[in-house]
Parts: sequence; C-alpha cells; structure tokens
Amino acid sequence: MSTTPNSPEARDVAYHLHAYTNAKKHEEVGPLLIDRGEGVYVYDNHGKRYLEAMSGLWSVGLGFSEKRLVEAATRQMERLPYYHTFTHKGHNPVADLAEKLVTMAPVPMSKAFFTNSGSEAIDTALKMIWYRSNALGKPEKKKIIVRNRAYHGVTIAAAALTSLPANHNSFDLIVPDVIRLTAPHFYREGKPGETEEQFATRLAEELDAAIQAAGPDTVAAMFAEPLQGAGGVIVPPATYWEKIQAVLAKYDILLVADEVICGFGRTGSMFGCETFNLKPDMMALSKQISSSYIPASALLINKRVYGPIRERSGEIGTFGHGFTAGGHPVASAVSLETIRIIEEDGLVERAGEVGAKLQAGLRSLADHPLVGEVRGMALIAAIELVTDKEAKTALPTPGQLGAMVNANLQEAGIISRAMVDALAFCPPLIITEAQVEELVAGVRAALDKTYKELG
Ligand code: PLP
Repeated sequence: MSTTPNSPEARDVAYHLHAYTNAKKHEEVGPLLIDRGEGVYVYDNHGKRYLEAMSGLWSVGLGFSEKRLVEAATRQMERLPYYHTFTHKGHNPVADLAEKLVTMAPVPMSKAFFTNSGSEAIDTALKMIWYRSNALGKPEKKKIIVRNRAYHGVTIAAAALTSLPANHNSFDLIVPDVIRLTAPHFYREGKPGETEEQFATRLAEELDAAIQAAGPDTVAAMFAEPLQGAGGVIVPPATYWEKIQAVLAKYDILLVADEVICGFGRTGSMFGCETFNLKPDMMALSKQISSSYIPASALLINKRVYGPIRERSGEIGTFGHGFTAGGHPVASAVSLETIRIIEEDGLVERAGEVGAKLQAGLRSLADHPLVGEVRGMALIAAIELVTDKEAKTALPTPGQLGAMVNANLQEAGIISRAMVDALAFCPPLIITEAQVEELVAGVRAALDKTYKELG
C-alpha cells in the first residue's frame, strides 16, 4: 500500500468500508485502486496493467472503453436525464427497452419490470410471487426452493435465497420459508460410481421429496441460476434441467431463472435458459444488460405471473412496488445500446468460439498438481484448486490456496476471483484469442509459482 499520508489509498483506508472485504485486513493491505480501462484491460493508480479476467463482477461484457455506450448515455443525459415509471408515467427509452427484452426473451414473456441491481430484481420477483399467490386465493403458496451455493444477491430477501455462508453469517436475516437443495455439482456431490445422469435423477428425486414433505400446495417457486456463478461456476450435469423442470411442472411450481450472470451471451447463447433449455416464468436480468456502465436490471414475467398481478392491482388500486431509479432513462438508453452492440457484433457467437479456446486452454492445466477440476462453458470458467487430487482437498484453511494463487495472478497482472478454493474466469465478451492465450499462460505461471511456494 502507498504510504503517502494523503494518497487516495490512504484516504480509502481512512474513510471507505468496502463491499465483500475483510475490513480489518483492509487496514493493513489497503486497496487496489483502478484508474482507467481499455478493452479487456484496466490500469491501477500506478499505471500497472491488468487483464480483467472477471469483467469486473462478471459484468463488463463490452470491455472498459466502449465509446458507443458513453455516447448513448450522453445523448440521453442531454435530452432527458431523469424520469420515473410510477403512476402511469414513463419515457421512450424504457418503453423501447421493455419491448426489446420481452421480444428477445427465449420463451414467451409478457412484461418487463425495471430495477437497479440483481438483488432488487430478485426481491421484486419474490414479492411478485407472494402477491400472485394471494391474488390467486392461495395465501399458503409461499415457500421458495433454492439450491446450495446459489447466489441471488444481498438485500434481505435475496440474501435469504442466496445459499453461501458469508451472506448469512452474523446478519440475522429475516428468512422467508426457504427449502435448500443439493448444488448440482457432480465433482463434489456425485457419489462414487454414479454417472452424471444418475446424479441428475437423484437431484430431481430430492426435489420431488422436498416438495412432498413441504406440502405441494405451499410451494410457490424455484429460483435458480441456469449455471451457478458466484457459488463456483457450477455447470449442471447432463439431463439435470430436463428432470428438474418435469418435477416443477408436476406440482405447478414457478421457475425463476436468475440470468444476472448468464444473460446476454455469457454461456454462448443470448441467455442461459437457451443453453440449458429452461422454460422459466420469470427471468432476472442485470450486469451485462448495460455492460455495467450504469446500474440496470429488469425482471421479465410471463402471463401466468402478470395475469393475477394485473387483476389484484386493479382491485387494490395500485401495484405498490417500484424504485425511484428503476427504468432510469440513461440506464435504459445504455442497455439498449449494449444489446444493439452485442447483436451487431455477433458477440454471442463469438463467446462460443473464443470461449472454446478459453475452455481448452484452461483444461490443458487439468494435469497440474494443484488443479482438481476445470469447469465452465463459453466465456465463464473455474478451476477448483486442490493439494490432494485423490481426496479432492486443499489446504487446511478453506480459501487459503485460492487466495495464494489469486495473489500470484494479480501480481502477474491478471484479475481473477477466488471463490473459496475455486478461481473464476469470466472475461469480457470482446476478448481476443491472443488475450485468451495470455490469460491461460498467466494462470499456468501462477499455479507453478504457488506450487513452488508450497514446497
Ligand atoms: N443474481 C446473481 C446470479 C448474481 O450473480 C448476482 C451478483 O453477482 C446477483 C443476483 C445480485 O446482483 P447485485 O449485486 O447487482 O445486487
């Protein structure tokens, strides 16, 4: 850390409580302050360059210097910098974006509702589901199914649906009725001798049994990321989604697809729902929707959800939910331009093509003594780090090995993210093949360095 008393780093330590950071350790190590961005690279305050292999927080799909987004924001700022969507009011960009999202959805959707973050979209989905059950005269139909290692955000309801210990520990969450099931992670959860398909069948049976135990009439919805992101980039096993959806359909349980990471090309299709053939009733969208140049998120709902909400809001006189900045005109304009660029530049197909190189490159590290599993698809991947391949275990303190490799990567100029002992990679959709090679070579070197350090 810079020792200059009045440096930005010193002032950051003095005044800033960071998100997802060990506050005590931060006072010793200080921040990495990023000053500017260019394509897939960012530069810190001292001019050091990093390949941003996480797209910030899985989100800057178009890289860090897309001028068209700046121009779209400027044009909209100059024309109408703010308007809201309450009490029958609105503006052109939000109407255009609603139409675009509903028409590009991979399954029939009816309406878009606008929020500012993934967590708000998920909270909104939960509130809509409860509102709907009440509207249908089924007030007991309120329970929600999630999977272990799910990440759905951090507001009170979203954090309750998230199933990672750090999001629950010490927060005294007001937990709604949540049923948590096994994460679809074959490497960790598969039983000896079990095939992927048998594993998927077992998880569908677990779901069926959990619904039976809870009482089918009390279960409203399942929230799920098509591919779990922050829980460790967990690609579900073959036939998983087909079997899970069959169980949900049997009991008339809604499916909410949390596309906050998968949406807009990440898995090689425009939406994760297309990659895994999901037929959700609601889709939560954020992050790459605006390439994160400005906060934006949306919730798409189909007729099954919209119909009862329409009737009930008619009776009550309003749908009493909304955010001051939801559907913000500048965020809407930037989102429309982002989607236009993704479509015009063929970035979804590109994610598949360049992503195949990323997957092959990372899989070439599978024989490394510190690599337990390489997983992912298209431009999202993770390496599960181990010190004992047979036992699938890492160092005694969970997260220690992940932190070591991550620190070595950062020193070498690559930003990844350690999720306990799995390293995540989710580079901008615009990454080139040469930059993928640079990334893979950097990961190999960081693994070698860490292996030496461990002696
Ligand atoms: N859902 C998923 C799948 C996410 O990955 C995230 C954030 O990483 C969220 C929801 C929460 O989004 P936000 O951080 O914008 O509230």
